[in-house]
Amino acid sequence: MRTPCTVRIRSKTPRSKSLTSSRQRTFTAADMTEASRQKQNLLELDREGLERFFVETLDEKKFRAHQVMKWIHHRHVTSIEEMTDLGKHLRAKLEDAAEIVVPNVMFDKPSVDGTHKWLLGMDGGNAIETVYIPDKGRGTLCVSSQVGCALNCTFCSTATQGFNRNLSTAEIIGQVWVAAKHLGNIPHRERKLTNVVMMGMGEPLMNFDNVVRAMSVMRDDFGYGLANKRVTLSTAGLVPMIDKLAQESDVSLAVSLHAPFDELRDELVPLNKKYNIATLMDACTRYALRKKGESVTFEYTLMQGINDQPEHARALARLMRDFDRSVQMKDAAKVNLIPFNPFPGTRYARSKADDIRAFQQVLNNAGLVAPVRRTRGDDIDAACGQLKGQVLDRTRRQAEHAKRLKQTGDFDAAA
Ligand code: SF4
Repeated sequence: MRTPCTVRIRSKTPRSKSLTSSRQRTFTAADMTEASRQKQNLLELDREGLERFFVETLDEKKFRAHQVMKWIHHRHVTSIEEMTDLGKHLRAKLEDAAEIVVPNVMFDKPSVDGTHKWLLGMDGGNAIETVYIPDKGRGTLCVSSQVGCALNCTFCSTATQGFNRNLSTAEIIGQVWVAAKHLGNIPHRERKLTNVVMMGMGEPLMNFDNVVRAMSVMRDDFGYGLANKRVTLSTAGLVPMIDKLAQESDVSLAVSLHAPFDELRDELVPLNKKYNIATLMDACTRYALRKKGESVTFEYTLMQGINDQPEHARALARLMRDFDRSVQMKDAAKVNLIPFNPFPGTRYARSKADDIRAFQQVLNNAGLVAPVRRTRGDDIDAACGQLKGQVLDRTRRQAEHAKRLKQTGDFDAAA
């Protein structure tokens, strides 16, 4: 779930030299699929999967999996030959059965404010972007979960690009791998990457298994060692999957709310027609109640004359206070205000500075902390809602996807 997203089709992109060396293998997703037919891509596996691979496929001890994870995620090594604590025989056995295939970096670009973005090539000419945003004492990586998105939020450019496919676990954790390698991130020692937000292209809860597996590597000490609360999943409000997430993972939850009234949210986030605000807030309450002291972040993109008036702010404040009451915790609801970043063809505009201030003031007067997100990476088109990528061959796949969703009766709003 990105808030909001802009993905434009690019006809041509230069190839990066920065991450390609003779020792490192980079492949497109088509290569990755082909390779996986023959060998296991170790980037697809979390700790549990890798332990099973070592025990069941290689007839080796579990702890070998931990050694290999450290080589991949701490030292950014993709050549099995370089894993010198494995022993020659085991390395040869591993070479036969597995490999480490990382995403193909088409280009990477730094901003003057320290923001950095990567365009990563997927199959069939598709591409996604990953953005690193450093701030005081923290470094946040915004990660994508799908190529395109099927949820059709009207303020979101990814929606206009359509849906192509889910990203694999390797393609999701591969985004973290690429950034961590570039930054020289070493978990527990040289920590440059402190937070990951699943807020790039796509609705992460519609790619549940791959996203949960990738988030498990992010939080694993043999992976990126991030605390649970430092990995955030942002959703448009897929209610049953929020409950499933509560059972199967332990990360922070963010919800793209954008409107305090159903009629308006139906228009901005069509998924609301299936799971309205009351149903969504109930699911958020269940999520927060599963753990003491848990808060939920509500993202609110401010669009001029659409959702930025005092009545919207007052209704939002009521909704947030009700949430605090149902969770029985002060500040259980956190609000993030995001000035809309326009993209070509959009019917929406960014709220005026005075209206943003007035909106924030109403929330503050109601006792809510509601920071306005600063725009970062403007000079490299990496601000929220300015990302570019490529989503090709989307029409057929989107139609198939919508048909599947209708058949399962999951929700009509995606069609
Ligand atoms: S759910 Fe999909 S369409 Fe809606 S804002 Fe997120 S990426 Fe865009």
